[in-house]
This record gives sequence, structure tokens and C-alpha cells, in this order.
Amino acid sequence: MPAFLSIQERIGAYRRAGKRLFATTSFQSHSVPLLHMLSLIDRTIPVYYADTGYLFPATLTFRDHLRGLLGLQFIGLRPAVPKSQQRDANGALMFTWDPDRCCDLNKVRPLEPILASHDVWINGVRADQSEVRKAMQVEQPAAFGCLRYHPMLDWTARMVHHHIKVHALPPHPLEAEGYLSIGCEPCTRKLMHGYDERTSRWYGLKKTECGLHTDLAMGNVQQPT
Ligand code: SF4
Repeated sequence: MPAFLSIQERIGAYRRAGKRLFATTSFQSHSVPLLHMLSLIDRTIPVYYADTGYLFPATLTFRDHLRGLLGLQFIGLRPAVPKSQQRDANGALMFTWDPDRCCDLNKVRPLEPILASHDVWINGVRADQSEVRKAMQVEQPAAFGCLRYHPMLDWTARMVHHHIKVHALPPHPLEAEGYLSIGCEPCTRKLMHGYDERTSRWYGLKKTECGLHTDLAMGNVQQPT
């Protein structure tokens, strides 16, 4: 497992340098190999997820299943702004009229204190997932002086599926129903024939990323204000 050894080695090097590490996950099937490897390398690394209030119930069930299986510490990050303050004058929730701001409030802002209190952010983006992600590098700066580490960047979908199969890891329960890229329930659709998997997120909008990963692709690594 050369990929595993390389990830283990790099995490070991961060540790020896006294770096404070954390990881994030979205609990999708393709997230599972990274979680599996982290569970073998160091279960004390906290794994955060955006607990937006819009996750599928099946995702929360899958989270609990993975926690029991892998023994990782999953920590939900809740938005500071209550949903009652995320409505327009007609009562419509923000994702219907400003999804960028909705992602910012519910996903990006809650991560800021974690970025500010750690040195290395381990996340599972892959270059083959979208044009935006192709522009990323294995290591690159993030906000608040944190370093992004993308151990899965060069992994292909085939490698991910192979790892899942070889280690008999579970898929997200909604995958069997045709969902391949799964995020918040209002912004996720089943995979459509002829489209890549990320197209099933924010379908019909120009939006392709939640904001956690967009700034770097745009060359913007400024601290959020
Ligand atoms: S994915 Fe949709 S519901 Fe979730 S935070 Fe972003 S806009 Fe809001």
C-alpha cells in the first residue's frame, strides 16, 4: 500500500514537527478510504463535519456506523446563525435565494475557529472530481496560517472503489438509490446520465463548490473577514 505508507509518513512528519492536525469529512462513500486510513494511522486526529442541519438522516446514520467501525472522533460544527435568521421576508430559507451565503454561514464560518487553532487540515478532495479541484496541490496554504493537506488528490474514482472493496468498507446508504455526490439534502440530486458526479450538487446553479474548497482554486488564500 504505497499510498497508505506515504500518508502515514507525512502525518508522522507533521506530528514530529509538533503540528496540530485535524481532518474534515462529508461522510460520502468516497470519503471512507481516507477515514479508514486515518483510523489506522492516528485515531486521535479529530474529524470535523459541517452539521448544517440539512444533512440527510441517512448521512447521520452512516456517521454513527463509521464511528463504531473506525473508532474516529467525529465532531459536528454547527452554524452560529440560527435558521430563523436565514429566511427572507417571505420565510424562504437562504439556500433557495442565496446558496453561496448559505454555504458560507453553515459550512465555511463554523470551520474558521478550527482553522485558527490547528496547523494542518487533512481533507479528501480529489483532482478527478471537478475542474476546480484539478487546480489544487497536495499541500497548499489555507486561511489563518493553516496548511491544507490533500492526501487523496491523485486518487482516481477507481482507486477509491478498489480500496473500499479490498477492505470491505461500507458505502453511504443512499448510493444504492443513485446518489453519488451527497451533501445537504436541499442541494443534492441523484446522478443524471451523461453528467459527472459533482453535477448532482446545486444542479441548475453556477455553484460547484461549498466555499471550503473554492477560494484556493481561485488563488485566494486571504483570511476570511
Ligand atoms: S449545500 Fe445547500 S443547504 Fe447546504 S449549506 Fe450549501 S446552500 Fe445551504
